[in-house]
Amino acid sequence: MKTGRRARTHAPQQRPRLGAVKGFTDYRMAKRALVREVSRGVVPLEHVCDAHPELLRAARNVGVIAKRDCPICQLADDRADVPPDETDTLRLVTYVFGADLKRKSGHVVWTRAELDGLAAQHRSFTAYVVECCLVCGWNHLVESYLLGRGYAG
Ligand SMILES: [Zn+2]
Repeated sequence: MKTGRRARTHAPQQRPRLGAVKGFTDYRMAKRALVREVSRGVVPLEHVCDAHPELLRAARNVGVIAKRDCPICQLADDRADVPPDETDTLRLVTYVFGADLKRKSGHVVWTRAELDGLAAQHRSFTAYVVECCLVCGWNHLVESYLLGRGYAG
């Protein structure tokens, strides 16, 4: 049941200021639709809780705590009618893709400073932020945006 659930903030860490970000795409609507399908049993859990071992490792080692609950663990908690887990198991991992990055394309960015450094060194690339749950393996794209010297100022 939904009663008694604590209020959540919706202010993820490291989110760029929306007005200053080029090519920003928010995937929350797609995520909600998918979670709804899972809750209805249309999409099986194993199709959404399938985080690749490398993503899980990145989430555990360098992932930023998402400050919100995993939607799939939340579903399970609701069904079992147990209080939500207070541990920070949902992590945000940022990947960068783009021809300008050459061999660094497809890599995980470890820190905000590293991301800023890449933006200063390259003309254009895309950052993808993925959320990943350390408990159940849920993973979903959160947002993407363009970075690089071509978009500075
Ligand atoms: Zn989970």
